[in-house]
Amino acid sequence: MPDSTISNSPLPGLYIVATPIGNLGDIGARAAETLAAADLIAAEDTRVTAKLLSRLGLRVPMTPYHDHSDERTRAALVARMEDEVVVLVSDAGTPLISDPGYKLVRDARAAGRHVTTLPGPCAAIAAITLSGLPSDRFLFAGFLPNRAKARADAIAEFSALRATLIFYESGPRLAATLDALASGLGDREAAVAREISKLYEECVTGTLTGLAARYADAPPKGEIVIVVGPPGEAAAEPADDATLDAALRAAMADRPVAQAAKAVAKRFGRDRHDVYARALALKEQL
Ligand code: SAM
Repeated sequence: MPDSTISNSPLPGLYIVATPIGNLGDIGARAAETLAAADLIAAEDTRVTAKLLSRLGLRVPMTPYHDHSDERTRAALVARMEDEVVVLVSDAGTPLISDPGYKLVRDARAAGRHVTTLPGPCAAIAAITLSGLPSDRFLFAGFLPNRAKARADAIAEFSALRATLIFYESGPRLAATLDALASGLGDREAAVAREISKLYEECVTGTLTGLAARYADAPPKGEIVIVVGPPGEAAAEPADDATLDAALRAAMADRPVAQAAKAVAKRFGRDRHDVYARALALKEQL
């Protein structure tokens, strides 16, 4: 496949370019080349992007772009993509991820423009890799609503998902959000990743209630991602096989095997099918 972003002859179209979330060294070579080759950069905040361009020694025309920019602004950008290189950036990280861009990409596609992406930093992905929580299935939930009722309703929607959950958050709201998550999801394993790729990067792990207590009187500074483990991972008590068997025997004394296995599997964070098979074997011995 031809590379549409070779610096000397990029095709006209829309280039979605991820930029660093803290450490400017994380700008990719291809991203820098594409910014240099742009006819126009559509930026969330042109003052923020100006700093990046200055660090790269570039001077490129810019225009502000938000998804609430009017139709005419968007149509004008899409028109320019016919024979010019238009680059979309946000203040930091991957455009469209809790950032502007979705409507511009939608309209560029609808108009048949060349649309390509230059993947790069994203706080949500960086945080899940730091957290040590299961990464095979996850849901990115962005920012939760501010109002308590709306926030609780949103959290309730996620509670049954067997997936790790990722939220963006700010320091002043962190403890209240961790509390709300503990109430709505149960006391799961979680991580608070802060200032990723910056000088004071840290990732604090614990249970939701433990983390809420830690930050209650000490709201942290900087940018934050909360990662919450799936149900069953967290509040699960670690158990060896003997403990598991004892719990199964006790549970089977007052309920059917399937129900006993389900409850014990949940309590110890074990696979339900494995625990059921173990329960059947124990029942044979009773
Ligand atoms: N588009 C960006 C991305 O790809 O991650 C996210 C933009 S969103 C408006 C900004 C939020 O991302 C911040 O409030 C914070 O929750 C998270 N964030 C951005 N940079 C971060 C960093 N260096 N460390 C931790 N969280 C960060």
